[in-house]
Amino acid sequence: MIKRSHTCYVCKKTFTNAIYWYDSIHDSKYDKRLIKPFCGPLCANKFREISDENSYPAREKPWPRGPEWQIIQDIDNIEYESD
Ligand SMILES: [Zn+2]
Repeated sequence: MIKRSHTCYVCKKTFTNAIYWYDSIHDSKYDKRLIKPFCGPLCANKFREISDENSYPAREKPWPRGPEWQIIQDIDNIEYESD
């Protein structure tokens, strides 16, 4: 199976086999589903430093439902939207 590639949200490197990503389902900032992939833990940590995501509270449950809000366990085989 051909896995899709990702562009790191922080350093813009292209990579495959994503392990780290931001998912807006956890964050009250966004009304839409956004996935922001990171090439590794350094960029994931850096994102927390440089973004304002930490200024927003975690999204309260119940989380939104519907096709856009499926639980995502692996972003290598799905289409997703970043910003
Ligand atoms: Zn990166």
